Amino acid sequence: MIVPTDPEASAKGALSLRGLTKQYGALRAVDDISLDIGEGEFFTIVGPSGSGKSTLVRLLAGLETPNAGSLLLGGTDITQVPANRRPTAMVFQSLALFDHRSVGENIEFSLKMKGVDPATRRVRALDLLGLVRLPEDYYERSVTQCSGGERQRIAMARALASDPEILFFDEPLSALDYRLRKTLEIELRELHQRTGKTFVYITHSLEEAMIMSDRIAIMRAGRFVQLGTPRDIYQRPINRFVAGFMGEVNILAVQDTEQGPRYAGLDCDAGSAAGAYAVLRPEALLPGDAGDTAFDAQVDQRMLLGSRTQYQLHVGELRLTSEVGASGATDLEPGRSHRFSFDRTALTWVSE
Ligand code: ADP
Repeated sequence: MIVPTDPEASAKGALSLRGLTKQYGALRAVDDISLDIGEGEFFTIVGPSGSGKSTLVRLLAGLETPNAGSLLLGGTDITQVPANRRPTAMVFQSLALFDHRSVGENIEFSLKMKGVDPATRRVRALDLLGLVRLPEDYYERSVTQCSGGERQRIAMARALASDPEILFFDEPLSALDYRLRKTLEIELRELHQRTGKTFVYITHSLEEAMIMSDRIAIMRAGRFVQLGTPRDIYQRPINRFVAGFMGEVNILAVQDTEQGPRYAGLDCDAGSAAGAYAVLRPEALLPGDAGDTAFDAQVDQRMLLGSRTQYQLHVGELRLTSEVGASGATDLEPGRSHRFSFDRTALTWVSE
């Protein structure tokens, strides 16, 4: 029997991890993680390959058993409840659709397993097609006739069919091309808003996580390095590892010289932070010498990104990215040297 351990925590889709640990031999793939995920939250775990994301999400979904720790859903201990008896569902990267069956049969699969009658299943499947923005006539179509994006939507509809309290996603978009991924990121966020369910998502892309999530955990070697809102993580990365996940950011190492601490490769005064790293966002590094730290850099490339212009630059071995808004200078010639600058106040300092 399942006994509620915390009658106060009655939110159905709230998930609590208490010291969750999974070991493979001597390796702690998930190392003593405690966390509360709120009902209706979109929570994303970001980390490089091998950091333990899949193991963690498989523990949460009941596909793996922890060596230590416990898992509570809505205040009820579900640590020992097998995956198929949990009110949760998972969308895999492979999607695992049945290719020899119709879209409708795929969506209805879990309902059929539960013995729901065909007429009720059909009504539910048609509802779900609408929810994931697919036309009703897809019900009869074979999944082999569907595009990559449509298959994603079918997999989501199938996961939602049993009305789970939590949906887990294991890198569902990572095999898709860039444009389709961007579209589906927005669709996933909207689907989350429409369903109000708890989503737990894993990805190696912090950019993807930023677009969709309420909160993000950055994972490394089985542990969370940082946990916060997308804004927290973007504005205050806790260390160089997290900052390095932020795509285009510039990371300036500070080294001691005879003239005092200077940015390695830039040879500009860096105040008194030798040994630390300064994170400089591309939009804070601008053409001209308005900022307090200015230097000459060679412009390698100019890229138009809608309303912004991005420049790739280098100073000796150091490569940098500058991003200028619509009102800024957008006419710098690649192949030439230009003056660039930033303000010290725009830097975020991180440790190794
Ligand atoms: P990620 O999803 O972040 O790529 P994983 O959770 O797949 O990371 O793996 C974390 C670590 O656990 C890796 O070092 C991986 O080799 C190891 N690992 C994962 N599954 C197993 C397993 N079934 N047996 C042994 N080691 C495993």
